[in-house]
Amino acid sequence: MHDFALQDRQVLNDLADWIVDRRATPVPVRPGRTSELPEVTAAGIGIEATWAVLRDVLLPTTFPTDHPRYLAFVGGSPTPAAVITDAALSAASVYGGSELEAGDVVAAERVAIRWLSDLVGYPAQAHGVFVSGGSMANLSGLVAARHGRIASHGRAPRVIVAGAAAHSSVRAAAAIMGCEVVVAGSADRPLSGEELTAVLDSLDDRDIVAVVATAGATNTGAVDALDEIADCCEVRGIWLHVDAAYGGAALLVPGRRAAFEGIERADSITIDPHKWLFTPFDCAAVIYRDPSIARAAHSQRADYLEAVNDDDVDNPADYAVHLTRRARGLPVWASLVANGTDAYVDAVECCLATAGYAAKRIEASPHLELATEPHLSVVLFRRHGWTSNDYDRWSARARASGTALVTPTRFAGEPALRLCFVNPLTSAADVDLVLNSLERDASPS
Ligand SMILES: *Cc1c(COP(=O)(O)O)cnc(C)c1O
Repeated sequence: MHDFALQDRQVLNDLADWIVDRRATPVPVRPGRTSELPEVTAAGIGIEATWAVLRDVLLPTTFPTDHPRYLAFVGGSPTPAAVITDAALSAASVYGGSELEAGDVVAAERVAIRWLSDLVGYPAQAHGVFVSGGSMANLSGLVAARHGRIASHGRAPRVIVAGAAAHSSVRAAAAIMGCEVVVAGSADRPLSGEELTAVLDSLDDRDIVAVVATAGATNTGAVDALDEIADCCEVRGIWLHVDAAYGGAALLVPGRRAAFEGIERADSITIDPHKWLFTPFDCAAVIYRDPSIARAAHSQRADYLEAVNDDDVDNPADYAVHLTRRARGLPVWASLVANGTDAYVDAVECCLATAGYAAKRIEASPHLELATEPHLSVVLFRRHGWTSNDYDRWSARARASGTALVTPTRFAGEPALRLCFVNPLTSAADVDLVLNSLERDASPS
């Protein structure tokens, strides 16, 4: 079972072709038929038959996030260099938690963290680690914040103050930590310093774990007033966590940088390369302005870990809620090295331009209207006269036919459709196809 056999080699060759070909022709989506899945048996069916099931039965039921018309949620469109590195990483059995095992892979991941830190405008000592997702990054940042607070004030704070548009994972992190979330501002607009001050004034600073601001709200793409928020936090000595899981990629575009003014003042930051930085799932960065606090909060100690717990060694395990970890920053690093940073700027700009095209197309349509001005690469809009049921039916049909994955949301209390562009291969023709289908569909019921 553990030796690679001739069949394994053949399947691997087939896999290489499949990886390339599936990107050239988007996989047709068909509904799942789990009855076709083979049973787990005592003898097994061999890798060739298993691979055939994977390729022909199982994977075709997915709607891949790199499909050019995957425009729901926040997709992901990894570069070939990142996909290849990800595959090599799986094959190489790299334990990414410590330098002892991961060797220079740790150094390569450090370069990728440094690149993100430079984008943010963080000082030289800033450091962090790649974790499984924005949810783990937010949790890790908030646990570090609480640790720092306990170290300086001697008592455990219990309140996390978050903008109303903060991602659901902030509430999940609070629940895990036994904390309460106090909401500031409104989900329909970016959080301002004034709205935050109103909430902070009603609380005792010593009870506050951190303020969470969002740079690129998942639903709307809006960026909170980070500089004003940083002012509020600084005068009160409160930890500021900026969640830029989706939006952080826009820091690459010089013309968009101004919207993020003040992000460099955050104590911790989340940026997900698996969203808009072209890396396979799963890969999210949590970066700390002062990494020593995070290290004190997160490093695990045990007799059997003494071999790796040298204070002079910089172990990725020490910066988040984890021990064993995939070296998920390696695909980020390899793709940066292979493609160069200019290609990243172009790719992010391309998504912004496609979002701009979609917004113009919607404004010009007699049947459609923007629900709000677009932020970053998110476009929220409505079809005149449609109810929530109409959106649901249209969305289900578009998904079932493999046309597009576009799901309804709500904005300002009303149903709306949402497009999120994170794939540079999404073209104006793709946008037209989706919008034409909506315009044609006068009575979806
Ligand atoms: C997607 C997202 C998250 C959660 O990230 P996961 O990788 O899905 O865990 C957190 N915050 C924001 C703003 C997001 O868009």
